[in-house]
Amino acid sequence: MMRLLLNKQVNTPKNFYISGFLPEFKNEVIIDGAYYFSENNALHVSGSLRTEISVCCDRCLKSFTSVLQTTFEEEFMSKDLAKTYYAYDNEGIDLDGIMYEILQSAMPEKFLCSESCKGLCDQCGIDLNKSICQCDTREINPKFEMLRSLLLED
Ligand SMILES: [Zn+2]
Ligand SMILES: [Zn+2]
Repeated sequence: MMRLLLNKQVNTPKNFYISGFLPEFKNEVIIDGAYYFSENNALHVSGSLRTEISVCCDRCLKSFTSVLQTTFEEEFMSKDLAKTYYAYDNEGIDLDGIMYEILQSAMPEKFLCSESCKGLCDQCGIDLNKSICQCDTREINPKFEMLRSLLLED
């Protein structure tokens, strides 16, 4: 559980650091943030959130570890006042649910093992990062490449 213990007297940003685990995320999640209470007793929490996830490259299907990182800024009310799910109690606030939501919405739709990943040949399926095939693909035709280098030599 990622629980932030609160001191109600804090009215200027106080730094905190929490690490823990969330459902569906295999690796430790780290929150590096700050909190304070404003005059109306609203709890302000902001900071950055980071974990590592294992994903598949969208082009070559290789699995690799990617860092998922995002920043957040949230405001919470006291459980006495608010009927909302995310609220703080006398001692602190459970951040699991809200942090899970923030991480989920920060998840990119696609992952690339590298910006220059050549992907798989769409005809023979070979991994073009590792080897070259003889397929006649639209992009590079080896024969034209050879002709071009011959012409350049002249
Ligand atoms: Zn790739
Ligand atoms: Zn091929």
